[in-house]
Amino acid sequence: MGDCIFCEIGSDNSKAERIYQDDYCFVIQDINPITPIHLLLIPTEHIVELWDNQEKLLGHLLVVASKVAEQTGLKANGFRITINQGKDGGQTIPHLHLHLMGGRELPWGTGF
Ligand code: AMP
Ligand code: ZN
Repeated sequence: MGDCIFCEIGSDNSKAERIYQDDYCFVIQDINPITPIHLLLIPTEHIVELWDNQEKLLGHLLVVASKVAEQTGLKANGFRITINQGKDGGQTIPHLHLHLMGGRELPWGTGF
């Protein structure tokens, strides 16, 4: 959709290596990781908002997150899943995505 970077990456395999891909979403490495493992789970469809009537998709993304956590070795020590929603939530790309972060112990709160 338009000039959305995640739509662009989603429609062109050469733009970023996929850690995982299915009919509904794909997973790539965050370009600016804040933890040793920092992945983005991105719906292929351009969905802007968390509450955009996406029950099935949101459930699917969480199931994929747990699969990918296992695949990348995060399962043993745990991980964090974050959704930044809107301006105050720190969302910079208005295309729904989950951050999957781990590889070191993370403090509670916003201090990464
Ligand atoms: P958010 O602040 O939740 O909207 O997160 C956007 C995330 O996308 C940030 O962590 C960025 O580092 C990441 N990002 C931006 N552009 C790219 C890109 N081209 N490939 C991978 N990650 C990106
Ligand atoms: Zn998009």
